[in-house]
Amino acid sequence: MSTTMRTYLDWNATAPLLPAVRDALVRALDLPGNPSSVHREGRMVRAEIEAARRDVAALVGAEVAHVIFTSGATEAANLVLSPAFKMGRAALSVGHLYVSAIEHPAIREGGRFDKADVSEIAVTSEGTLDLAALEQALASHDAAKGLPMLALMLVNNETGIIQPVEDAARLVHAAGGLLVVDAVQAVGRIAVDIQTLGADFLILSSHKIGGPKGVGALISRGEVMMPKPLIHGGGQEKGHRSGTENTSAIIGFGVAASEALGRLDGEAMRIAGLRAVLEDAMQTVAPDVIIHGKDVSRVCNTTFFTLPGLKSETGQIAFDIEGVALSAGSACSSGKVGESHVLTAMGQDPKLGALRISLGAATQRADIDKAIAAFATIAGRRKRAVQAA
Ligand code: PLP
Repeated sequence: MSTTMRTYLDWNATAPLLPAVRDALVRALDLPGNPSSVHREGRMVRAEIEAARRDVAALVGAEVAHVIFTSGATEAANLVLSPAFKMGRAALSVGHLYVSAIEHPAIREGGRFDKADVSEIAVTSEGTLDLAALEQALASHDAAKGLPMLALMLVNNETGIIQPVEDAARLVHAAGGLLVVDAVQAVGRIAVDIQTLGADFLILSSHKIGGPKGVGALISRGEVMMPKPLIHGGGQEKGHRSGTENTSAIIGFGVAASEALGRLDGEAMRIAGLRAVLEDAMQTVAPDVIIHGKDVSRVCNTTFFTLPGLKSETGQIAFDIEGVALSAGSACSSGKVGESHVLTAMGQDPKLGALRISLGAATQRADIDKAIAAFATIAGRRKRAVQAA
């Protein structure tokens, strides 16, 4: 994304709106009907929402009827991370929520579970879920309290590391439990299929793939076991999420989903190539740079790195001054940079600090060159500061 002055390399935080999405959104804002109305205006909007549902379902190989639109991934997480489920009409309890230690706060907060009913499962120093630790936790699960539920992201938002979801699914299902997969950072970067993954639920967010902010989805593999609704009212989204649908946002999400699916293969190779140029240059300029997760399976677009001696906050500001927007892995909503719980979980000193560069559909070689130049300036300054000390 080359504007005259700025280089945007923070696509994991949010992806700029795709032009086709913008067009769809603007058009949709003028659709007059309420999708629940039976007149022609209502039916027209309903048809567009259902088309978006098909596009979102296709992105993850799900049944169209199993997509529930929400106000984003955070709401989807709060809907599904619930001790109260229904199996058909019968109540079903989920007794304990296990979350990986590297989940996004939307998941780590545990949704509607009491804090006492949530435990973390460690990750290895390589940044992937410790499957032995999961097995152990499931073995000591107290089934009398209800089913176990595991929440595991498919791709970590800070490191880009791909998690062993299929293996985790086997373990959770063998224990009779449910698996919730936050696929927010995976779609559009790797192929995602709800069946192959063995996920019982997937969570998506539109704004990470070039759709509008404030819309997402909870997608289920079946429809027998469903969480009790979080938002009650007029019974929209088959009663799972009441409230008049955010029509234009949902329509925009559908377009973003179909674009993400369409550009998967070629785009991933192009972006991986750009990232390789970036990382090679960073290692040449500063051989002591640590690129977290470089030797494990990562998505194509993310580089999470530590430049020893450079604090996250200082680094982020320095890149910003150089015209490059990137992020410290963990930015609180206040904009303050917190220590990375992901680095801590990987057994690294979180005080080391780390920065995240994330690329996307509009990233070009010129953006990478600009990031490399900024990196060289900042690394040079750091070296001089260390020498002067
Ligand atoms: N999960 C992951 C992995 C994310 O990166 C994010 C966004 O930062 C979320 C969940 C929350 O998404 P939303 O902004 O749609 O609530």
